Amino acid sequence: MLKGDPLANVLYIDLSKKRHWVERREDLFEKNIGGAGVAVELLHEECPQGADPLSPENSIIFAVGPLTGLFPLASKTVAMFKSPHTGNLGESHAGGRSAVAIRTAGYGAIVIRGANDIPGYVAIHGSEVHFRDARALWGMRNSFTVGRIIRENEPAAGLRSIMRIGRAGEKLIPYACVTTESYRHFGRLGLGAVFGSKKLKAVVVSGKHSLPVGGAADYRRVYDQIYHEAVASPVMKKYHDLGTPENVLPLNALGGLPTRNLKDARFEGADRICGEALAEHYLGRRLACSHCPVGCIHIAALREPDENEPYFYKTSMISYDYELIYALGSMLGGSDPEGLLKLIDRIEVYGLDAMSTGVVLAWATEAQERGLVSEDAAGGLRLAWGDYPAYLEAVRRIIDQPNEFYATLGRGVEHAASVYGGEDFALAFGLVLNSG
Ligand code: SF4
Repeated sequence: MLKGDPLANVLYIDLSKKRHWVERREDLFEKNIGGAGVAVELLHEECPQGADPLSPENSIIFAVGPLTGLFPLASKTVAMFKSPHTGNLGESHAGGRSAVAIRTAGYGAIVIRGANDIPGYVAIHGSEVHFRDARALWGMRNSFTVGRIIRENEPAAGLRSIMRIGRAGEKLIPYACVTTESYRHFGRLGLGAVFGSKKLKAVVVSGKHSLPVGGAADYRRVYDQIYHEAVASPVMKKYHDLGTPENVLPLNALGGLPTRNLKDARFEGADRICGEALAEHYLGRRLACSHCPVGCIHIAALREPDENEPYFYKTSMISYDYELIYALGSMLGGSDPEGLLKLIDRIEVYGLDAMSTGVVLAWATEAQERGLVSEDAAGGLRLAWGDYPAYLEAVRRIIDQPNEFYATLGRGVEHAASVYGGEDFALAFGLVLNSG
């Protein structure tokens, strides 16, 4: 680590006491190359054995590595926490501006302890840390609106990262995500619920620190080499042109596309929801995380007519990836691209993890198909493969929880299968089946 590098600064934030302080932790950053190793050690120090993941004892660690902010592609932040989804280690990575913002704010890691007594968000602008009141944002139906309001109230546009939760996190749904810069996510393992348990609506980070480099000429040479590899390599070109959705057709041809809750591995509707089809008919723009020349983030523009006003159209910008396409497309037997995009958008609005939600909906569809869950139990809703209006309604009910069935789905597929049966087709993390 170079002299004067702020990487070894760990920012500690105690939500319960509304206190913050910085500790120099060279020991962590010299022993571990990347942020993940540092974050695991910090979580080990912070989170006592046996802690309830949704209690103030569970800390949230964000960390970045030494290359972040200096070299292309080093654009991810790792979040480490005890997962409310599995009760085990929760590790989740996201890009957007989060990593570069943490690094240029002057930190290598941020530790968030304790819990707010009323909803709040934390704004970190360099060495300044503010504890803001978020009661007006709590319960807001649309997480995009939350992002817009915070953007209007916080300085440093273009430099800052806004990591926030939707209603799923507030309701402690164990597969709630944290969204950053509208289109990137700490998706798996329920970081959103951990935020919710701390009544923490968002974390905003911005900074303007310069980072020291050793030997400007050598630095430039290595930088250029990585940059060139990233933009000239055919492997990366695929991610820029079509993004990860380019994988849909090859995986389908190989018999590796998860379909109808894994009952099939090839999907007859793949050519309607593959990367090529979505790019041709819907691609509205491409985006990149900070310091990444690849720009693999593909955003669809979905234009829908207004029911009440002729010639008036609403355009929604919806990010899609391979994982979302299989989890909310082929896994649900859905080949209608507009239905798929609307479902992705709804899940974004609520702040759910798309993949875990897809798994829950796929299990529920098969459970109804096999007669384990009646239409009555599902509040008059019949889920059928490819029926997007029904899936949109089911997701709304997972959030609003009008009856026992949706409250059960809101606790994840493993719990739902333990209540209704069907463990043999529940795609849960590390689910152990009874052999009897
Ligand atoms: S733009 Fe794509 S390739 Fe680049 S860091 Fe972000 S997710 Fe990774």
